[in-house]
Amino acid sequence: MKPYRLLSRSSTVSNAFAQALSPADDFDEAKLIEAFENLALVGEKGLLCLYCGKGATSVDHLNPLVKDSKFTGWGHVLGNLVPACNECNQSKGGRPWRDFVTEMGMSEEQIRRVSTYESQAPTPVSQDDLAQFYPDLIEAYQRLRELSIDTLRAAQSLANEIQRLELDRKSRDSGRTS
Ligand SMILES: [Zn+2]
Repeated sequence: MKPYRLLSRSSTVSNAFAQALSPADDFDEAKLIEAFENLALVGEKGLLCLYCGKGATSVDHLNPLVKDSKFTGWGHVLGNLVPACNECNQSKGGRPWRDFVTEMGMSEEQIRRVSTYESQAPTPVSQDDLAQFYPDLIEAYQRLRELSIDTLRAAQSLANEIQRLELDRKSRDSGRTS
């Protein structure tokens, strides 16, 4: 198990900022289920993974919310949400679905169906698009994002120092008792 490091969490910060900007539907469950039925993803025991057909355990975004640390314009909306298993979700990672399904060997017909479903999503307005409309606001937003990463980095340095001191203290203590 890798130790959890705040320093490696700049992608988490990017994600949090993208989440804040991203559009979200008031879910119309009936509409979602209808869409998943059209994609043949409703099984007898529940939803099926779009990519491998096994039981779904998570929700995947066809198109990621973040690319190159920037908000893509995609969100939690009908046309971008699909059921997936954890394994496929993990191996797809931040890639757009078209790249991944080529690798997974999805049928042309199913790719067409997914494209039709995708076209139900609102046209994405990316961070770069938003920067054209609101340059000052997006610049301020970007600065806050960097500040957040710096804050996490500073917290990590402090945590490292505390851990180092703790190791010293414990080895001194054990030296004293033995
Ligand atoms: Zn899967």
